[in-house]
Amino acid sequence: MLFDEHDGWRRCPAEFHACVASGPAGDVIHAASGSATLCGIPLPEVSFGRGTFEPGGDATCDACAEKAAATPPRRSVQERLYDKVLAAEPGTLRDEVLDALRRGASVHPWTMGSSADSVRPELRLHEAVEGGPEADEALRNASRVDQAEVRGDSWRFVVVMPHGARPVLVRRPLRRQAGPDRPGWSFANARKPAAFGSGTSADRVEHAVDGERTLCGIPVRDVVLYLHHFVADRRAACPRCAARAATRDQPSAQERLHKLIAAAEPGPARDDLAAALTRGAEITLWLSSRGPTLARHYAELDELTEGRAEVTEALSAGHASLAHVLHGPWRSTVVIRENGRPLIARGPTDV
Ligand SMILES: [Zn+2]
Ligand SMILES: [Zn+2]
Repeated sequence: MLFDEHDGWRRCPAEFHACVASGPAGDVIHAASGSATLCGIPLPEVSFGRGTFEPGGDATCDACAEKAAATPPRRSVQERLYDKVLAAEPGTLRDEVLDALRRGASVHPWTMGSSADSVRPELRLHEAVEGGPEADEALRNASRVDQAEVRGDSWRFVVVMPHGARPVLVRRPLRRQAGPDRPGWSFANARKPAAFGSGTSADRVEHAVDGERTLCGIPVRDVVLYLHHFVADRRAACPRCAARAATRDQPSAQERLHKLIAAAEPGPARDDLAAALTRGAEITLWLSSRGPTLARHYAELDELTEGRAEVTEALSAGHASLAHVLHGPWRSTVVIRENGRPLIARGPTDV
């Protein structure tokens, strides 16, 4: 049996990595757990590489087998989150989350110990239809939080677990929606300093490498290249490279996409998207792959209400880049092909 039933929850038997210790009688296979084997040998004294510990073999350690058998089965992620959600305020929202977990709803991601500030954008509280203000308040009073997302049938639930306080539940639509306007956002101030490779000359000075030369003009064959980026304020940094690097910047993804879609067919789909990009619309996805792979796993073609046929056709073969942009009531899909003008399709973000 692969799993046990415990009060309706599936539990898998505990698993341990197998490790080997050599003794007078030959190799013995033990179960590793934490910093030692279950029978107490420190891990630095054993070697790994035999997969999962299977009790009952010829060379297995009896003490480890006994302790492995006595280890309680592993609880599923749903069962563990269920226990945490029980501490949230009772009500319909909590009941729905508990019910979804009972039915095995997917839990992803589940992050632990993030700072409240860093986790806030991921929670997408502006999309919340319930629990948003409470979660916001909880974040303001917490320094560290755990958070988990539960995908229900009609909603996405977020469990915000501030350390030292009761969890707060948030209900969000399944599909992501455009964020609020970003006042003051512009292509110019969204530019970031350009990143350069790093190379050291014979005199141990570190230079910024740009293609075939350093920014100060040394051919790359005369420097030793490193994998890390050039850091201008490092003591060994070449001052001329640092000064030139400071004048270079790179455009935001929004600015680059804006430039690319200029070649798309004129019309509202292009113009609305172009305008949204100048205001800093969120690009939720941008990747390149084989067209059919993009169509199957990323494009979400069935959600498009404008331009679906063209995009479907374009992704049926060859390579392409695919971008998703959230703006106003839309999610726009941009397909950039090797040959042919970019295509823009879109569908509503509403559930
Ligand atoms: Zn052992
Ligand atoms: Zn230099």
